[in-house]
Amino acid sequence: MGTRSWAALTLAALIVAVIVVAIIRVPWTSPPAPRADQLAALGDLPADAVARGREFHAALRPGAYGGLVLGLIIALILGLTPLGARIVALMGGNWWLRVLVGGFVIVLIGEVIALPLAAWRETVLRRYGLSTQTWSTWTVDLLKGYAVAAVIGAIALLGFFGVARLAPRWWWAWVAAGAAGLVVLFSFVFPVLVEPIFNRFTPMEAGPLRSSLIALAERDGVPVRDVLVADASRRTTALNAYVSGLGPTRRIVVYDTLVRDAPPAEVEAVVAHELGHAKDADVLTGTLIGALGAAAAVCVVFLVGSWTGLLRRAGVDSVTDPRAIALLLALATLAGLASAPIQNAVSRRIEARADAHALELTQDPSSVETMEQRLATTNLADVDPPRLEYVMFASHPSVVERMAAARAFARGER
Ligand SMILES: [Zn+2]
Repeated sequence: MGTRSWAALTLAALIVAVIVVAIIRVPWTSPPAPRADQLAALGDLPADAVARGREFHAALRPGAYGGLVLGLIIALILGLTPLGARIVALMGGNWWLRVLVGGFVIVLIGEVIALPLAAWRETVLRRYGLSTQTWSTWTVDLLKGYAVAAVIGAIALLGFFGVARLAPRWWWAWVAAGAAGLVVLFSFVFPVLVEPIFNRFTPMEAGPLRSSLIALAERDGVPVRDVLVADASRRTTALNAYVSGLGPTRRIVVYDTLVRDAPPAEVEAVVAHELGHAKDADVLTGTLIGALGAAAAVCVVFLVGSWTGLLRRAGVDSVTDPRAIALLLALATLAGLASAPIQNAVSRRIEARADAHALELTQDPSSVETMEQRLATTNLADVDPPRLEYVMFASHPSVVERMAAARAFARGER
């Protein structure tokens, strides 16, 4: 059997593994609450808040879709014409110089062209009172983001092209294993290496709220050393919380805005949702799917690498030539777009399970529902987004779905 057959076989095995993980670890059997209940919830929300959320999202939409289309066009022009290869070739003859500087320039082109849209988005956030940033803190955030992406991108690209030089026939196997390993490592170190670049995290100060949250976690059988408070208010007025990290780096983080603006019972409802994520090891599920997906993507790149028509379009002889960076980025952009609805479908089911967990743990559906309403109103959510947008981009169930689920629980139906 040749390397191509092995790569195809490995790809098939990885796809099966992703499907098995998704079947075992994602709750597919509990559908969203009936549409009639969702519409009832929608009717009970304050009409002006619903209208304001819709208006806000309508204002964001042109920039969001414009950015998506623009990003795709730039990626395709650079990757599927010889333009990208020519730009990388300008960076001298050294392979690693081509990889580092060439990769940087190719990504930078897209970023610079998208920059006005990002700035415009920030003006919308400010107009609606959601952003608390100045242009200088916004710029610092942007540059920090670029720096983090540059480091991660450099590791990934140097790894890919370096290994391809060392193992011309079997590089895909090593790179696939390395990519999967990097995803796991990244999940693990993200909360301690990357998150502190953007926010300060302080353990919640002692008091009745902290005690009640720790007690809630204990009742849930999820040992939590601390609840961390992020200084999100330096950026936004939005309310949120999340779980990140694996094993020793796992933490529950709440925004300072939530602690400041929401009553304790609602903070408890939010933390109960996050405890659901911790209990079901949802970060691990996401990491597993991400790692297997990354390895599968490497196999695809290897197999696509023998498609001479495509290589000719991109003006390269091989995908392992650093001049193929733009082609690889175009493929990654397409894969990201194509897989978004699947990733979001998985995410929505996992989020619905965490919601169900919060209801089960707190036995307080009315606080869960008022919390959903507060988050929706403060964060200017589109409480019942257009169907296509929901399927493509929603990582969470809609607000009306979440409220309907709380009401079904209150009626004893779940
Ligand atoms: Zn969640």
